[in-house]
Amino acid sequence: ERSILEIKGLKTVFYTDDGVVTAVDGVDIKVRAGETVGIVGESGSGKSVTSLSAMRLTPGKVEGAIHFNGQDIMRLSEEEMREIRGNEMAMIFQEPMTSLNPVFTIGDQIGEAVRIHLKYDKGKARERSIEMLRLVGIPRAEQIVDEYPHRLSGGMRQRVMIAMAMACNPKLLIADEPTTALDVTIQAQILDLMRELKTTKGTAILFITHDLGVVAEMCDRVVVMYNGKVVEESDVVTLFTNPQHPYTRGLMKSMPTLESAEKRLYSIKGSVPSPGAPQIGCSFAPRCEYAMDICKIEPPRLEEIGADHVSRCWLHSSEGRWNGHESAVN
Ligand code: SF4
Ligand code: MG
Repeated sequence: ERSILEIKGLKTVFYTDDGVVTAVDGVDIKVRAGETVGIVGESGSGKSVTSLSAMRLTPGKVEGAIHFNGQDIMRLSEEEMREIRGNEMAMIFQEPMTSLNPVFTIGDQIGEAVRIHLKYDKGKARERSIEMLRLVGIPRAEQIVDEYPHRLSGGMRQRVMIAMAMACNPKLLIADEPTTALDVTIQAQILDLMRELKTTKGTAILFITHDLGVVAEMCDRVVVMYNGKVVEESDVVTLFTNPQHPYTRGLMKSMPTLESAEKRLYSIKGSVPSPGAPQIGCSFAPRCEYAMDICKIEPPRLEEIGADHVSRCWLHSSEGRWNGHESAVN
């Protein structure tokens, strides 16, 4: 399958008062046509910076190769990039971070992208807005199109955001925690909607989340990030049935299930190292219950441990105590 987005050796650094901070450190990600790829990790893992870098929307310095739909986007001018953003490559974020502009109507905001990118006139843009509102399941679309955002609930506003993102039929939708601020019922509806759009429109999705439950429901393939690096990647079934990296296993253990939803959840002890901290060895070592001497000295490499399954951990090497056979989760 043709790849829509291909990121190779992505490195994003920020120059701060405390020095150079490497937020993303050598990340490879591929999203094929019509595929949903999840990036999962705790906050501070570099997952959002990865997606912003892919859109060339980060103030950080970006190195590496990013190809979108066969185009080397690192070489494009800012103007050419604007032509792609909101058009072939669209995004939705968590509310209310990027809430809608309160002084424009819903229709003005959905219509803006098609006026700019598809050169629709006002009337045609309004028609397209109504069509998109219907598509995302907003009732009374003919009236809502002329309303202002404050008239809508959080769930409805997020539907409008999706309508905006999908208005130009993007090849890739980047969704960064799109349902995190919503209550469980609305979240389920929005995820259903995104799955439906993916099926009917064939849109590829890069889905950024800290929530493994959402990953299980939405994604074909999953990239697990920790401290700016990919630590494990596989198809979604393999990741859930045979997770190999201790960090992934920790995330799995801390995932709520129907039975445990009421109970206090397991959580991985410690916290993500600050991106500026010097790195010797494996950055997960301070939190890892399997850490060995070598882990504190040498950084592990990303290794192929199965069909389309990679993990970055010394346990998979001959140096390690286990080679990925027995389960580390007891
Ligand atoms: Fe744990 Fe060592 Fe594997 Fe890092 S390399 S995850 S410290 S076992
Ligand atoms: Mg984030």
